[in-house]
Amino acid sequence: MTTITDRLAIAQSRIAQAAQNSSRRAEDVQLLAVSKTKPNNQIIEAYHAGQRRFGENYVQEGESKVNALSEDYPDIEWHFIGPLQSNKTKVVATLFDWMHTVEREKIAQRLNEQRPDSMPPINVCIQVNISQEASKSGVAANEILALADKIAQMPNLTLRGLMAIPSADVDEQTATDEMAALQALYNQLAQRFDYVDTLSVGMSNDLELAVAHGSTMVRIGSAIFGERDYSKA
Ligand SMILES: *Cc1c(COP(=O)(O)O)cnc(C)c1O
Repeated sequence: MTTITDRLAIAQSRIAQAAQNSSRRAEDVQLLAVSKTKPNNQIIEAYHAGQRRFGENYVQEGESKVNALSEDYPDIEWHFIGPLQSNKTKVVATLFDWMHTVEREKIAQRLNEQRPDSMPPINVCIQVNISQEASKSGVAANEILALADKIAQMPNLTLRGLMAIPSADVDEQTATDEMAALQALYNQLAQRFDYVDTLSVGMSNDLELAVAHGSTMVRIGSAIFGERDYSKA
C-alpha cells in the first residue's frame, strides 16, 4: 500500500524534477498539502512525515480542524484556499495564517478589521481569473493592481502575491497560455511591490506546468491524500 508518507515524497520529487527542468531551485517551490475532506489523522500522518503547510477549502471544516490540531501541532501553517462569503471572514481572520482567495475589497477590509491585534498580519493572495470561463472566481487581470494597492494599505494584511485555478480539461496549448498569462501578471505585481513573493498555482495534475511558469507554491490534494469522497460531506 502506498502511504501518505510515500505520496508526499513522490510529490516532493515531482516538484524537484520540475524545478530542475526549469533551472529553478526546488526550495523555491513550496508544497501546500490540501487536506479538504480528509480526517485529522491523515493530516497528522503528513505532519509526522515533515509536512507543515496545510490548505483547507471550507470554513466549518477548516475551523474544526484548526481548533482540534493547533494546540498539539502549533507549527502547522494553515492556509484558506476556498471561496469565502463576507459573513464568514471572521473564522479565517482569527484561525488562519494565509488566505489565498481574496477577490474583493470588502473581503480584504473585513479580514483587516477582524484580524486580532495579538496575531501577526494574515498573508493574502489575490485570486485571479485567468480562464475564459465566466463562472470562475477571481478578479480580472486589469483589476489586480487596484485591489493590490488597497490591500497594501491594510496593516493587518500582508500582500504575498497571486493565486489562480486554471481551467480544467483544456488542451495543452490553452493550459500553457493561461499559465504564461498568470506568470506575466505575477511579475508585474512583484515589480510594484518588492515584498510580493508568492505565486500560488499548480495542483496534482498540473504541478509541472505550474513550476515551469514560476509557481512558488503548489497546492496538492489528491496526489497526497488520495481521491476525495464528497458523498459523506
Ligand atoms: C482541491 C483543491 C486543490 C487540490 O487539488 P488536487 O487536484 O486534489 O491536487 C488545490 N487548490 C484548490 C483551490 C482546491 O480547491
